[in-house]
Amino acid sequence: MTDLSIRSKGGCSMRTGILGGTFDPIHRGHVEAAKAALEALSLDRVLVLPSGQPPYKRCHAGRQARLDMVKLACDGEKGLVPCDIEINRDGESYTVDTLKALRRLCPEDEFTYIIGADALNSLPKWRGLDEIAQMTSFAVLSRPGWDRQSAEAQAALPGVNVTFTDIEGLPISSGMARTRVAAGEDVSELVGKDVAEYIRSHGLYLCDYTEPEILEKLKKALTVHRYYHTLGVADTAERLSERFGVDSHRARLAGLLHDCAKSMPYGEMRRIVSENVPDTDEQELDSEPVLHAPAGMVVAQRDYGVRDRAILQAIRRHTLGGEDMTAMDALIYVSDFIEPGRRPFPGLEDVRALAEVDIFAAMRACARLTTDYVTSRGQKSHPKTMALL
Ligand code: ATP
Ligand code: MG
Repeated sequence: MTDLSIRSKGGCSMRTGILGGTFDPIHRGHVEAAKAALEALSLDRVLVLPSGQPPYKRCHAGRQARLDMVKLACDGEKGLVPCDIEINRDGESYTVDTLKALRRLCPEDEFTYIIGADALNSLPKWRGLDEIAQMTSFAVLSRPGWDRQSAEAQAALPGVNVTFTDIEGLPISSGMARTRVAAGEDVSELVGKDVAEYIRSHGLYLCDYTEPEILEKLKKALTVHRYYHTLGVADTAERLSERFGVDSHRARLAGLLHDCAKSMPYGEMRRIVSENVPDTDEQELDSEPVLHAPAGMVVAQRDYGVRDRAILQAIRRHTLGGEDMTAMDALIYVSDFIEPGRRPFPGLEDVRALAEVDIFAAMRACARLTTDYVTSRGQKSHPKTMALL
């Protein structure tokens, strides 16, 4: 339900700024811009208003998460008021409807819609712009790389009251924050400690897709059997992760994507691995059953937008292993072996028991079983697997 506390009190009129956006995630550029606008435009408050489903932009985090982050960022900032009016409305969000709803809640208020210069070029396309212009004026903030002249030309729209402020936005964007999270970097400097912690603890922005979207893609890419195996690996890796100091969201994502290239034709796997994975040798390139691991790393990066090195490396190493395996590498390697859907084979239960207490011991046990199996068939175990022993 919409929080009605934004309602203006007993007929008193307020000067209310509205900073709308996807806030995916909210960052210091937003907060500093809102505070500067509060001061420069003598506003009583700025409503920080995350959009529900914007018509022209795909959101990476869900509605509730974006609102939660807005609340964290506004906490303790006098005059900044989170507003959930769009988050609680179904369907696509149009500013015209939002302003009408705000008008009903705050009939006496004078509204100023605060907008970054980069967002100006879309203004002529906003649904119901004439009606919008009757309900609010606009105040424009500059953003790095923005050219004032062309922005002023874009803002010259009949009947629309646009003022250019001298407020210089910080060189920060949500896209920048998302990219850094995906690369495994700390984003406290960009978004503040609380929002950074929220992103970490909810596993946001690790790749370009949400889990339901990833599952849809995997369903199309994999056989039914492989798909359920994948879920088993993801669940196992997630369940065991914290015990061995591995971030549970990263472990789950690596588990979900470890076999993402499994159904790719051999020729194509060979090609993308030769082109993109320099540390692959002839023995790997010649072996169809192991090639899906380095190919999976390429596909996870290319088709799912994974940039986190730890996740990519774990996918790359999940069949053969490698030198200096990390806890994450070992976790995915072992989870692939022991997930609940695996058909029973001698030694499996021992490895399962070992994995509950020592992931590296379990990894060595898996490598031993693989090596014994390969040798029994008159083949040579790969040096990368031998290195695990
Ligand atoms: P993305 O990178 O996903 O496009 P963003 O950083 O542009 O995100 P939005 O949620 O799209 O953030 O922005 C909401 C509003 O805040 C827009 O009007 C935008 O122009 C403005 N804004 C965003 N970042 C800044 C900034 N650093 N300085 C000033 N205004 C900003
Ligand atoms: Mg933007």
